Amino acid sequence: MAIALPQERRVVYDDFEAGQLAVELDDKEPPEILAWALETFGRRVSICTSFQADGMAILDMAWRIDPQVRVFTVDTGRLPQETYTYVDEVRQRYNVPIDVYLPDTREVEVMVKRHGVNLFYQAVPLRLTCCDVRKVRPLRRALADLDAWITGLRRDQWASRANIRKVEIDHDHGGLMKINPLADWTEEEVQDYLREHDVPLHPLYAQGYPTISCAPCTRPVAPGADARSGRWWWEINAPKECGMHCSLETGGFEHELEAIIGEAHGEQ
Ligand code: SF4
Repeated sequence: MAIALPQERRVVYDDFEAGQLAVELDDKEPPEILAWALETFGRRVSICTSFQADGMAILDMAWRIDPQVRVFTVDTGRLPQETYTYVDEVRQRYNVPIDVYLPDTREVEVMVKRHGVNLFYQAVPLRLTCCDVRKVRPLRRALADLDAWITGLRRDQWASRANIRKVEIDHDHGGLMKINPLADWTEEEVQDYLREHDVPLHPLYAQGYPTISCAPCTRPVAPGADARSGRWWWEINAPKECGMHCSLETGGFEHELEAIIGEAHGEQ
């Protein structure tokens, strides 16, 4: 059974317990899973969202259970203006504080000095470096004081997500619990939920964007085209992931990333 450590009020599961839970919760609906998560982890669980449709369904469901639910986002510094406007709308609608995690200024400065501000267009390893500095490293800071995080991931979004469970240990981020209540939902079910609950959508959906992330790396696609094809469209045979939800070890960018971090923090 999960251990609650009194001095830190931490709730920790091991792989075996998490596996049992995943089986028990697999046929539960998203609000039931959210209720369990909020009850189990209290203030040590937070929703991670980039304010796309899936994340907004999760936020709306969780807010109906606990209007003080914790929410966080990563602001890469390259988001479209429409996202900032929409975040303010969301903040007002739900009246929840949103923790915003930014990249380390010095790391961005060093990265841009070495490779330019639009380094992602030059080569896949540089794109992955940018994603690590601007997304993955701020995410790690956000997760550092949590026992669990909640995402809007779905199995049908992309091949790398096909095997996610509704609850799983996140070994990429120190072994906290990762909760994916929408794992077995389809995009249609998400849209139905948002319509039924009158949740406003990010304005870029109306302009043909199937997914929304940083402005220079996301674009609209033709109706019916693969949703992920709007991301990093200039890359061939590269992972359509940024590393926030699965660790990317390509051997191609890690060395440069280490050099940037070392220079940024005076380790060379
Ligand atoms: S999506 Fe593009 S701009 Fe955003 S962090 Fe990744 S490479 Fe950088």
